[in-house]
Amino acid sequence: MKYASFSLSSDTTPRPGVVCGDQVFEFATLTAAGWRGRVPSSLLELVQQGPEAWQAMRELAGAASSSTSGHPLKSMRWHAPIPRPAKNIFCLGRNYVAHAEEAARARGQEVKIPTVPVIFTKAPTTVSGPFDDIQVDRAVTQQVDWEVEVGVVIGRAGRDIPRADALSHVFGYTVINDLTARDLQQQHIQWFKGKSLDGFCPMGPVVVTTDEFGDPQAKRIQLRVNGATKQDASTANMIFPVDAIIEWLSKGLTLEAGDVIATGTPEGVGMGRTPQEFLRDGDVVETEVEGIGTLRNRIVDR
Ligand code: ZN
Repeated sequence: MKYASFSLSSDTTPRPGVVCGDQVFEFATLTAAGWRGRVPSSLLELVQQGPEAWQAMRELAGAASSSTSGHPLKSMRWHAPIPRPAKNIFCLGRNYVAHAEEAARARGQEVKIPTVPVIFTKAPTTVSGPFDDIQVDRAVTQQVDWEVEVGVVIGRAGRDIPRADALSHVFGYTVINDLTARDLQQQHIQWFKGKSLDGFCPMGPVVVTTDEFGDPQAKRIQLRVNGATKQDASTANMIFPVDAIIEWLSKGLTLEAGDVIATGTPEGVGMGRTPQEFLRDGDVVETEVEGIGTLRNRIVDR
């Protein structure tokens, strides 16, 4: 199952839907055949309703695809699948060895491979759509960098989740570009500010459910700037794989339905290149995860 949030030129309110082929079926249309309780008005609400609701939506979508009328994908505007998460996005820093090395080199630091996950967050207001322009205020930052990442959407809440159960708490996966203002990241010591500028978390285009996505540690992830490949790696190279991330993060900390975790970026960020490269006005960034899709965002100075 692929879930998306979208709007139409006739009604710009984001609404949730199921993507089937070249169409999207709105929840509102699918549930016209019947729904127990409140019809979810967002993907976040469906996730929060729990496994029985997910199964019900799956059955409605399966029955609908031949007979129900959907919207052609071409006619819709894509929003982030969860346009406004309920809390900050959890993020892993330095979760690929080669990226940990390049990041340390770029800062003139000794290379230390984490033995405990490095965890920071991005503000919910960073989230932007999969094809939105990213507005950059050059009075605030001159060093906008890219980071392709697999995003995990938590389905079942939990605390102190053992690694063996961790993947059963996942609802699905999405693509995230953890855009970063490197100058602010450095100046403010704590990473939060440099990671949290408005729009700096393009997400989508869809959330792919766990059954369809398969093994999260066997996916190719890539990022291109103006067509030139900058990052190209496998999620097999994560230092802390998704199940370990969930185990660590949930120690004494409740993960809730709809929480989003960005799982870290591989090597090839602009800061780690010689000479360093940062995004400029008009650059187009394509951020891709195998089995999910590609974000395409243009940098626009304002
Ligand atoms: Zn990142």
